[in-house]
Amino acid sequence: MGLLLADFQPLAAIATTPAGAKRLLSFCQSADATLWVPESLLDVVKTPGEENTRLAIKAYTCPLKDHLANLWADHGAFVFSLAAGAVVRLIAPLLQHKSTDPAVVVVDETGQFVISLCSGHQGGADQLARLIARQLGATPVLTGASAGLGLPAVDMLGAPFGWQRGEGNWTGVSAAVARGETVQVVQQAGSTLWQSHLPAGHPFYFERREERENAPSPYLEVGAALPHAQIWITPKQPLLISSAIAQIQWHPRVLWVGIGCERGTSRQLIETAIQQVFKTHQLALKAIAGIATIDIKADEVGIIELCQDWQLPLKTFPAETLRGISVPTPSTIVEAEVGTPSVAEAAAIAAGNAFSHPLMPAQNSLLIPKQIYRDPEQPGAVTIAIAQSQQEYTGRTGTLFLIGTGPGKLDQMTPAAQTAVTQADAIIGYSLYIDLIAPLLRAGQIVESLPITQERQRAERAIELANWGLTVAVVSSGDCGIYGMAGLVLEELRAQGWDGKVPAVQVFPGISALQSAASRVGAPLMHDFCAISLSDLLTPWEVIEKRLTAAAIADFVTALYNPRSLTRTEQIVSAQQIFLKHRHPNTPVAIVRSAYRDDEEITITTLDKFKEIPINMLTTVLIGNSSTRTHADWMITPRGYLGFDAESGKESTPREPI
Ligand code: SAH
Repeated sequence: MGLLLADFQPLAAIATTPAGAKRLLSFCQSADATLWVPESLLDVVKTPGEENTRLAIKAYTCPLKDHLANLWADHGAFVFSLAAGAVVRLIAPLLQHKSTDPAVVVVDETGQFVISLCSGHQGGADQLARLIARQLGATPVLTGASAGLGLPAVDMLGAPFGWQRGEGNWTGVSAAVARGETVQVVQQAGSTLWQSHLPAGHPFYFERREERENAPSPYLEVGAALPHAQIWITPKQPLLISSAIAQIQWHPRVLWVGIGCERGTSRQLIETAIQQVFKTHQLALKAIAGIATIDIKADEVGIIELCQDWQLPLKTFPAETLRGISVPTPSTIVEAEVGTPSVAEAAAIAAGNAFSHPLMPAQNSLLIPKQIYRDPEQPGAVTIAIAQSQQEYTGRTGTLFLIGTGPGKLDQMTPAAQTAVTQADAIIGYSLYIDLIAPLLRAGQIVESLPITQERQRAERAIELANWGLTVAVVSSGDCGIYGMAGLVLEELRAQGWDGKVPAVQVFPGISALQSAASRVGAPLMHDFCAISLSDLLTPWEVIEKRLTAAAIADFVTALYNPRSLTRTEQIVSAQQIFLKHRHPNTPVAIVRSAYRDDEEITITTLDKFKEIPINMLTTVLIGNSSTRTHADWMITPRGYLGFDAESGKESTPREPI
C-alpha cells in the first residue's frame, strides 16, 4: 500500500486465533505492519519459506495487556482481529486523549466489518478503517456523527492545510454540527478551499474576513439569531470565549517570526521574547509557520535549539536579498555589521512572501515591526518581527497519487486505486471521470474538475497543491500512464527540477480501454498488439501515419484510441485506407463504445465496413491481425501462428504453457 499508510506507521496488527491471523496477513504484508500473535500460534501462522518475505510475524510472550502497554506510545495505529469488547477492555487503561492516542481499528474474524473504534478523526482510525475495508472488500463501520452527515469533522477540517488546533469546546461544536445547528465561521487566515466543497444544506455560516477584523463583537449582528457555535480560523488568540456559545479555534500557520540576535544569545531569551510579542499582540503561538533570519545565523545555537524544540522550519536569506526589502525600521548599525539594514523585519517579510498566494501579488506582509529584547540575566539580545503570509505553511510533504480509474464501473477499478482516491485531500480530473468515482469521495475532500482540454493546467494545479503539502489524487480513465495524466504530471515535475522524492509520487494502474474493449468481445489481443492514438493535437499526423503503416505491415492487432472527434473526422478514414493496403478487407474489427458504462455499445464488423458504424471519442477500435477470426459475437486472435490452425481451430503440436 506504499504511501497510502505512511501516516499510520509504525503499525501493529494483533490476532489471537489462526483465522484472525490469516485475515490480517495480506494487509500486514502490504502495509509493512508487524503481526503480533500469541506464542502458541506462531508455528500455525508462519508457513515455511516465509522467513524471507517482508512480512514480520512476531510472538508476544507477556500478557497481551502488558504487551500493548509497551507498544502503545510509539505506534501510530493498532489493528485487532478480536472481539470489539475485548479490545475495549485491553486499551481502556491506555487511552489518554483523542489528540494523542493512536488509531484503533477492529476487523471481525469473518472479514466483513472493519470498525473504527478509537481516535477516528485525529488519530485517523476512520480513514484506516476505510482503507482496510477496501482491501478486504469489507464494510467500514464509522460511528462518528460527521461521517453520517457528509460533512468534514470540525476537528479535522484544517488538517489537510496543517492548521493547528487551538483552544475551545471541541465536543460542543461537534455536537452543534451533529444537531444541525447554525455554526458561524469566522475565517481570518488560511485557505478557504474547504468552504467550496461542502454539501448543500451544510450548517456553516461564513462571515467575510474583512467584516470581522475590526468588529467589536464576534456575534452576528443585524437581527440574526445568535449562532449556537463558532469556528474561528485565525492567527490570533481571541479573548472572546463565551460560555453561551461553543467556540473552537483553528490556527493556520501564517506567521513568520523574523529574528536578529547577537552571537550567543540564549535559546531561553529568544523563546521568552517570542512569547512576549505574541502575548502583547494577542497572537497564537500555534499560528507560527517558522523562523526566518539571515544566512550567517544559520548556525546560531539558540535559534537552532528553538526550531528543534518547537518543530519549526528555519528559513535563512543572504544579506543581498534582505537588503532589497523595504522595512519600517532600518538600522545603519546593523547595516555596517552584516550588510543589510534589517534582519528581523526583512527576513520575516522574505519568508512570508515565499508563501504568497500564487494568484495574488506579494504584498508587504509585516504584521509586527521589530521589537528588541534583553534580559540582564541572559546573554545576548534579540530582535523579533512578525510577518503574515497569504498562504499557510502546511508543514506537510505533499504526495501525488496518479490513478487509473479503469473504463467506468467502479468494480473495474483496483481496490488500491479506490483506496488512494478515498485517502487523498484533493481530487483532480475531468468531470466525467470524477462523476464515475463519486461514490468513493469522502466529505471534506477538495474536488476540482477542469474541462477536457485543460490537461496541462490540471497537471500544474495538482503539482501546485502537492508542493504545498497536500495529498493529491489525479485521476484518468483507463490507465493513467496510457494517454493519461501520469505522463503529463511527471513531465511537468521533471521540468520543474523535481528531485524524484518530494512531492512523493505513486502510480496506481488501471484497466486501459484496449483491455476493457477487448474483454467485451472475447480475446482479440491474444497475440502481439499495439495502441495508436489518432489524436494529432499533441502528435504530428505524419508520425501517426508512419506508425499506422508500420503496425499494419507488422500484422499487429491494433487498438485505435481517440479515433474521431467532432472536428477530427479524417484521421479514421486515413487509418482505414492504410490498413486496407496491408490487410484483408474481411479482417475482423470491433467497435467498442463506452465499455463498462451505461451507454456501452459494441459492434463486430470488418475492416472494409467499419466506417459505417458510429465512432466517437468514447470509442476504441480494435483491428484484428491476419489470423483473427469472429465466432458468433466473439472476436478471437489465435495465441500463435505455429501449431494452430485458425480455420479449423485445431492444435497440431504442443505449445508452451500460457
Ligand atoms: N487513459 C485511457 C485513455 C485515454 S484517451 C485508457 O487507458 O483507457 C481517451 C480514449 O480512450 C477515448 O477516445 C477512447 O478511444 C478510449 N476510451 C476510454 N474509455 C473508454 C471506454 N470506456 N470504452 C471505449 N473506449 C474508451
